Amino acid sequence: MLRRLVERLRRGSDTLRYPDVPVEFPERFRGRPELDAARCTAGCRPCAARAPSALIRIGDQGDPAVDLGACLFSPEEAAACPHGAIRYTTDHRMASRTRAGLVTPTGEPEQVRALDRTARRLFGRSLRLRSVVAGSCGGCEAELVALGNVVFDMARFGIQFVASPRHADGILVTGTVNPNMRFALEKTYDAVPDPRLVIAVGACAIGGGPFSPSPEAGDGVPASLPVDLYIPGCPPHPLTVLDGLLRLLGRIEDGSRPTRG
Ligand code: SF4
Repeated sequence: MLRRLVERLRRGSDTLRYPDVPVEFPERFRGRPELDAARCTAGCRPCAARAPSALIRIGDQGDPAVDLGACLFSPEEAAACPHGAIRYTTDHRMASRTRAGLVTPTGEPEQVRALDRTARRLFGRSLRLRSVVAGSCGGCEAELVALGNVVFDMARFGIQFVASPRHADGILVTGTVNPNMRFALEKTYDAVPDPRLVIAVGACAIGGGPFSPSPEAGDGVPASLPVDLYIPGCPPHPLTVLDGLLRLLGRIEDGSRPTRG
């Protein structure tokens, strides 16, 4: 018993001190993709066609843009550019309040705007979410489960999952929202008392992910639900989810990006 106590004291706390202490991700971590348009030669746009996702969009003027919401974070997407213009940084911070905010020329998303003062007073220190799995592979849920473990410990910020939408302040949706799940999702949303939040987690919930454009799979949270926060990833790292939620609640205000990329 004494040995166990000594070991406990020796180990200290396993919980990350994020966001007070930034987390350094290893080089092999595939975080926010970055596009170096200077490497794109005129008329050279094979990446959009070669990438196994819609990560690269070509605008009306022929300019490429990065769509974080479509990114599957695979090596093949980065390899789609023969000139090495696409690479993954180790930046895990990728959430955006709007879908359009995930589509940018460089890959750096629009900074998350915190909820207004009234909503922050309601949810800022206690946010209860009902998770809705609407046609997912299970990857996103595995990361959401990790948010409850001792390393990430999301509950220390007052954010928790609850079993009933009646007890929730919002829904957190994962999966493509296939036709069989759409009705259940909308009913769950209706059951959450106003004011309520909708959070789309993962490429599937944002736009169908690797299953897009399959009508059987669906293309993410339907337009009938007003999404308050989009969190990219396939699946997103637990800290990507936590970072997005804390920024939404106004508990991280620093908009700076890590210098190491
Ligand atoms: S976004 Fe990726 S990990 Fe999440 S449910 Fe879809 S395929 Fe699975």
